[in-house]
Amino acid sequence: MLVFKFGGASVKDVEGVMNLKSIIQLYENQAILVVVSAMGKMTNALEEVVKLFYKKEEYTAKILEIENYHQALIDALFQDKTEITTSLKTHMQMINDYLESIDKQKYDEIYDQIISHGELLSTLIISNYLNQEGIKNRWLDARKYIKTDSTFREAKVNWDATQSSLDLLEPNANLFITQGFIGGTSDNKTTTLGREGSDYSASILAHCLNAESVTIWKDVPGVLSADPRLFTEYQKFDQLSYSEAVEMTYYGATVIHPKTIKPLQNSNIPLFVKPFLHPEEAGTVINDGEFLQKNIPAIIVKNNQLLISISTKDFSFISELNISHIYEIFAKLNLKCNVSQNSALSFTVCLDFDEMKFEELIKSLETLFKVKYNENVSLYTIRHYDANILQKILEGKIVILEQLSRSTAQIVVK
Ligand code: ADP
Ligand code: ASP
Ligand code: MG
Repeated sequence: MLVFKFGGASVKDVEGVMNLKSIIQLYENQAILVVVSAMGKMTNALEEVVKLFYKKEEYTAKILEIENYHQALIDALFQDKTEITTSLKTHMQMINDYLESIDKQKYDEIYDQIISHGELLSTLIISNYLNQEGIKNRWLDARKYIKTDSTFREAKVNWDATQSSLDLLEPNANLFITQGFIGGTSDNKTTTLGREGSDYSASILAHCLNAESVTIWKDVPGVLSADPRLFTEYQKFDQLSYSEAVEMTYYGATVIHPKTIKPLQNSNIPLFVKPFLHPEEAGTVINDGEFLQKNIPAIIVKNNQLLISISTKDFSFISELNISHIYEIFAKLNLKCNVSQNSALSFTVCLDFDEMKFEELIKSLETLFKVKYNENVSLYTIRHYDANILQKILEGKIVILEQLSRSTAQIVVK
């Protein structure tokens, strides 16, 4: 079995869906499991619906926008669109009905029940389209296979339950189409694996099905030494070791979800990152080989960071006990600390800014500590850095925190 993953950008329009079809046709005699994300920016649009609902603002126009986007794709792709249009309408109705019916559910739970419709719709459209084109396939509901706990928005995989459900998967098709990003609890609630989690879904499925390889089809030629949206100079890695890929993604290289690598490394399944517009190109392979191109520094940028400086109210030293209280607050809010540094009197951390959690974070910290913060700073991480690259990157920027280890530089700038 080969596992393919197509992200939102690769299926954002009619050409994208047709391109997915031609890539699958290149692998005619292979068993393939295709994992697909929500189309284009549909996850963001659905997220907007949840936010509007929560702020008690009008959300139906946003739902209509989502319906229209999918309908336009359906109109262009299908000869007979009756059945798939009915499915689209059913999903829109489910969103409306759910939002009208909920009462005490928490934000994160509501979020997952709504947001998952993006992947459900994209896979329904693609599966039906491929069938229409004579490419027979079976649509799978990932919620029945990827079993998780009920940590909504950041669900933890129950590996035993997932393995057991996948063991029961009948190999009665050569091509399976399923959703990335979503899973299901034992009591059949929908969960999600964290934003950008479709890559991780592909890896979970590949691990449990003992797949031959995973290919993530991308709008870039492979894993690059820097995000091409932010830099004009970069190189493609032909090969990366699992460990190097784990490090790069952990520090925020958004090309692959950070949790993707480990399950593949554990079963020694190679991960290919290939350009969806040039399937004949080699892309990047991530495997257990050496990291062959150590001399290429990799730059990872995280924007929209929150830098917080925390000190005690009585100006005593920051103790281990203080730091443990601070981390307890982060853990409770499920916030990941990207860099931290402590001096005698203050503890400074850099976190991803989350508007839904910001107020509670500052309030909780302020009950115990004196807090100062900078919003909208950027964190630059440079793997295998040298003096040249640091100088080039930092030119014209104000450095507010710097941390250098042997292989990695982390610098927060304004
Ligand atoms: P998908 O929807 O397929 O998951 P993403 O937008 O999440 O696609 O990821 C692809 C994007 O990741 C690229 O368009 C690129 O801008 C960005 N990116 C960030 N870092 C890197 C990197 N090191 N190498 C390649 N692409 C990167
Ligand atoms: N659709 C989800 C997101 O945008 C998952 C993914 O694309 O990987 O976060
Ligand atoms: Mg992605």
